[in-house]
Amino acid sequence: MPFAPPVHRPPGARGAPAENRPSPLERGYDWTWRTKVAPRILARDPICAVPGCHRPSAHVDHKLPRSRGGSDDDDNLHGPCAPHNSQKADRDWPTFLAWLRKQPSR
Ligand SMILES: [Zn+2]
Repeated sequence: MPFAPPVHRPPGARGAPAENRPSPLERGYDWTWRTKVAPRILARDPICAVPGCHRPSAHVDHKLPRSRGGSDDDDNLHGPCAPHNSQKADRDWPTFLAWLRKQPSR
């Protein structure tokens, strides 16, 4: 597998972390999240949540982002693949799917 260098985006670009964004721990991704919640969701959803995408799930995503009041309940969590998770950013899931349908197929 070729090594993929991390993508560096200028601040403010789509997908770039917001400046002054709290650390993962400060955002609630603590030990329980990493050792219990995320593995459980990835075991439940082994394939990307995007219809038609067959890549393995790589991240646990909040359908409604925490930043907009989304909860850590299992029904608000699912597992998109790495590219789709990165594209989704902080959109909610229906908004992301609608956006995705408008993109040229790749
Ligand atoms: Zn995907």
